[in-house]
Amino acid sequence: MSMLDEAGLLSFPTDEETVRKNDMAHVLHSWAAQGHIDAMPIAGGEGAWFWDPNGRRYLDFSSQLVNVNIGYQHPRLVAAIQEQAGRMVSVSPAFANDARSEAARLIAELAPGDLDMVFFTSGGAEANEMAIRMARVHTGRHKILAAYRSYHGSTAGAAALTGEPRRWATEPGMPGVARFWGPNLYRSPFHATTEAEECDRALQHLRDTIVAEGAHTVAAVILETVVGTNGILVPPDGYLAGVRALCDELGILYIADEVMAGFGRCGEWFAVDRWRVQPDLVCFAKGVNSGYVPLGGVVLSPAVAATFEDLAFPGGLTYSGHPLACAAAVASIRIFREEGILEHVRELGETVIGPALRDLADRHPSVGEVRGLGVFWALELIRDRSTREPLVPFNASGAAAAPMAEFGTACKAAGLWPFIHMNRTHVCPPCVVTADEIHQGVAILDRALEVADRHTTSG
Ligand code: PLP
Repeated sequence: MSMLDEAGLLSFPTDEETVRKNDMAHVLHSWAAQGHIDAMPIAGGEGAWFWDPNGRRYLDFSSQLVNVNIGYQHPRLVAAIQEQAGRMVSVSPAFANDARSEAARLIAELAPGDLDMVFFTSGGAEANEMAIRMARVHTGRHKILAAYRSYHGSTAGAAALTGEPRRWATEPGMPGVARFWGPNLYRSPFHATTEAEECDRALQHLRDTIVAEGAHTVAAVILETVVGTNGILVPPDGYLAGVRALCDELGILYIADEVMAGFGRCGEWFAVDRWRVQPDLVCFAKGVNSGYVPLGGVVLSPAVAATFEDLAFPGGLTYSGHPLACAAAVASIRIFREEGILEHVRELGETVIGPALRDLADRHPSVGEVRGLGVFWALELIRDRSTREPLVPFNASGAAAAPMAEFGTACKAAGLWPFIHMNRTHVCPPCVVTADEIHQGVAILDRALEVADRHTTSG
C-alpha cells in the first residue's frame, strides 16, 4: 500500500455510476450544451488504448485532443514525473529552476535554425497570446493576419485569431485581426487545379491581403504549419517558404502555431522542419510532454528575444515553466530520442497509414479525399464525388449532422475512438501506435464507412 493509500487522500469512489453522477452535477464541459452530453468515464490507458470502468477498451485514433503523442501511461514518463514530484513541484517564474532550464535548453536545441529562447505557458492558447504580444511589441505594429480554417485556442486573443465557428460566440473579440485563406486544393478558394497553382495563388492572395490592410500596420502572420482540427491541410511545397519570403520583404513576423503539428505528430520535432523554414516565433504545447502535465510555450528568434533585453516583457503566468511540466518535457524528449519515435512516425505514415487509408478511399464512395503525413491524417467524407458536397453541411448539428454521428457510433461500437470534425474523420493515433494496431483501426473504419456510404448519391 502506498503512502497515499495509507493517508487515504486518493480513496474516492471510482465506480462508473458515481463518476458520471458527480461529473454531470458539477463539471462544466468544453464546447458543449451540458444537457446534451454524457461524458464517458475513462478509467485507464496504455499505449494507444484507453478503457472505461467496465474494462471496455478503445483504440484511440484521436490521442485524446491530439495530445497524447507518447501514448497513455508511458512508464518512464510517469516515473520521471513521480521523481520530480518528490524533488520540487512548484517554483515561480521569477526563480531559476533546473528542470525548467533543461527543458528550455532542449527545446531550443530542437527548434528550427537559431531560435534559442523559450517563454513557457500552461497551454497552446496562452502560447499564441504571448506570441502575438511579442510580435506587436517587437514591430510596433498592431495587426495580426490569421487564416480561415484555423484553430488557435479559446482565450480572448487566441479565439480572435481562430478562423472557424468556435470564434463566433466570442465576437466582437480582440481588434486588429485580418483574415486570409490558406491553400486547400481539394476545396480551392482560388479555383486552382494543381498544387503549384494553389501555392502561387494562395501566396498572391496573402500578399494582396497584406497590401490592402497596409503592410506597415501588420505585425505578424500566424499559421498552423499543418492545419489540424480544420482539416489536416498539408501546405503545398513552397507555400511556407513563400510566406517566409513575404514576411521578410514587408518587415512582418511569421508565427508558426505548432501546438498540434509539433513534437512528433508530423514525424518531426517541429513540422516546419519538413520544409526547412524558420519562423520568427514557434508556439508549442500538447506533444511537448503529451499533456501529462499542462505545458506550452513560444520559442523566440534572437532578434525578437533581443527586444526584451532592456525592455521588460509585458507578460507573465504563475505557472510559466512549472517544474513538474518541464521535467515531463525533458523526460518525454529523451524517450522520443531513445525510442526512435520520430523515425517510427515517418515510417508508419508513409508505409502503413497512407496506403491503408488510400485503399479505403478506393473502395468507399463516401471518401472524397485522403490527406496527411506522419500520424496526422484526414478522410474527407462527401455525398457525391463529382460535386464534392460534404457528407454534412458546414458546422451542422442535430439531425443535419446525423450521418457523421452514425459513423462515429459505428466506430465506437467496434472499439475505435474516432476524431470527428464537421464532415471529416481524422486519424491521429499516439505516435507509438503499431502497424498492427493501425490495421485493426482501419478495419473498423472500413466497416463504419459503409454507414457513410449509404448517404452518398451512389449508396
Ligand atoms: N493551436 C492549435 C493549432 C491547436 O490545435 C490548439 C488546441 O487544439 C490550440 C492552439 C490551443 O491549445 P490549448 O487547448 O492547449 O490552449
